[in-house]
Amino acid sequence: MSARANGTAPLHVVVIGGGVIGVCAASWLLREGFAVTIVEPGEIAGGASFGNAGCFNPSSVVPMSMPGNLRKVPGWLLDPLGPLSIRWGYLPQLAPWLGRFLKAAAPDRVAAQAKALGDLLRDSTGVYRPLVENAGARALVRKDGHLMVYPDRRAFEADALAWKLRSDNGIGYTVLEDDALRQQEPALSHDYRLGVFLPNNGHTINPNRFVAALAEAFLRDGGRIQRARALDFDVVDGRLKAVRTDQGPIPADRAVVAAGAFSRPLAHGLGDAIPLDTERGYHVVVKEPGLMPRAPVLDTVGKFVATPMEMGLRLAGTVEFAGLEAKPDWNRAKRLLALGARLFPQLATDAAGDRISVWMGFRPSMPDSLPVIGPASRTADVVYAFGHGHVGMAGGAQTGLLVADLVSGRRPRIALEPFSPKRF
Ligand SMILES: Cc1cc2nc3c(=O)[nH]c(=O)nc-3n(C[C@H](O)[C@H](O)[C@H](O)COP(=O)(O)OP(=O)(O)OC[C@H]3O[C@@H](n4cnc5c(N)ncnc54)[C@H](O)[C@@H]3O)c2cc1C
Repeated sequence: MSARANGTAPLHVVVIGGGVIGVCAASWLLREGFAVTIVEPGEIAGGASFGNAGCFNPSSVVPMSMPGNLRKVPGWLLDPLGPLSIRWGYLPQLAPWLGRFLKAAAPDRVAAQAKALGDLLRDSTGVYRPLVENAGARALVRKDGHLMVYPDRRAFEADALAWKLRSDNGIGYTVLEDDALRQQEPALSHDYRLGVFLPNNGHTINPNRFVAALAEAFLRDGGRIQRARALDFDVVDGRLKAVRTDQGPIPADRAVVAAGAFSRPLAHGLGDAIPLDTERGYHVVVKEPGLMPRAPVLDTVGKFVATPMEMGLRLAGTVEFAGLEAKPDWNRAKRLLALGARLFPQLATDAAGDRISVWMGFRPSMPDSLPVIGPASRTADVVYAFGHGHVGMAGGAQTGLLVADLVSGRRPRIALEPFSPKRF
């Protein structure tokens, strides 16, 4: 199918959601000749895409649910600096998702999920390149690699399965110990004696400005952005007629659901019960940190990333299960500051004035760590692109290309079965 019906006006695609996924999908669709409108009730990149760790990591092929994780959960929950928290009142709602999450840890499933993530995240920075060049946003992107640090070799060896998954999926890395590690990252605490350097990972120095720059290029090239909240769809005889919004209906030939953690009710209206939940995450930005790592550093103990950004050092991570309504628990962000000081002893953690800022965002999380990319049940005119969990930045450009394949009726460039909305 071409972007034009019968050689006349181009088909109109409404993309629901102005985060990294919606903006990438809209940008590729526009390049293919479709007329494209992004529908977004808030700011572009104001959701999870605002405050993440900014990593474009092909190495993020390791699913969140891994064999042996269950044993670690009680310790994580009891540790005030632990990486995981659950608001107990939310547990009944979360239980079915958790059940699926635990099942996803079966070894054959883990290998299949890693392979699918490998396909999605391959050459993340390279896949973004045409969009970045078109937006004149090269200055916002770095390809400096990524360092994962462990207290010692024993801790590294305990992670053997994760490293096997990376090797099996073609991820190259170098193990650095003691002096070699110190040379790579002089600011690192001596409590970390082993690091793994991943040369093919990249990052953006400002995720919000990065996505906004792509969106500005989209507008400049003829795309439209409309302030509205999508509510539902007009579907007649299996064909999409309009996207209904709080500002009235928008006529549409095709639509893309890219509303991140808020996509579930939209899919429900199209006959799909998708087990999407949210892992809430936090960041703290230290504006004058007194040091800057050379590349993003992932602390495998504290399970957070310290990313050098243009506004300071961003410490981002933690997983909190509390749904979409509960207020943020800013102690989670303060915890990141304490962990940052453990990782970099010279870190200036003085919170006076506005030297420190905090943020919370909703990761759109699927229990098997794989996003949903595929057509809706009620009509193939609507394509889903949500549920990217921890890898939405890394997988944004490729997801946009896959959406363009589906909307154009082309064979998708990678196998989409693992991402099917019907896999549950
Ligand atoms: C602390 C933290 C660190 C992270 N670090 C990384 C990282 O280093 N690398 C990485 O790859 N990923 C990372 N992630 C994950 C990444 O941020 C997400 O996967 C990604 O931002 C999801 O993008 P999205 O476009 O699907 O969702 P969002 O950015 O949340 O965008 C969804 C948009 O949809 C809009 N919307 C909602 N409902 C409607 C509606 N009804 N109609 C219209 N619009 C609607 C929202 O307003 C929002 O703007 C991190 C996440 C967190 C929280």
